[in-house]
Amino acid sequence: MAAKTKKTKSKYSKKSEAQARIAKERIDTLFAEAKNAFREDPSLSHRYVQLARKIAMKYKLKIPSKYRRQYCKHCYRYLMPGENSRVRTREGKLVVYCLECKKYSRYVIKRKLGHRCFSPSHTVSRSSAD
Ligand SMILES: [Zn+2]
Repeated sequence: MAAKTKKTKSKYSKKSEAQARIAKERIDTLFAEAKNAFREDPSLSHRYVQLARKIAMKYKLKIPSKYRRQYCKHCYRYLMPGENSRVRTREGKLVVYCLECKKYSRYVIKRKLGHRCFSPSHTVSRSSAD
């Protein structure tokens, strides 16, 4: 039962807000699907990421930061830690190494105010010179 109410082109109105909301939901589901599909077919996950990016571009939306670190910003493949990516924290940054294109991506981790945790035991002295 798809009652298509395709009205004639109206100017940008509240309708586009609704579309943006739907687009956001689709991005949510696409990333959830990408996660589910990875075990079965990683290439499907990569396609979902690309779809989500296309939707975001179409509706001029930003992909939420929680999702942005789930794909490689160089080759845009879905990244599964331990499978096709290595994730580690370094100097308050999240460093994601993509095993698909062999590149690093760095993300700033939001610090919770009043809850600093120093971990001197975790001094990673690996020089990651590209
Ligand atoms: Zn990559």
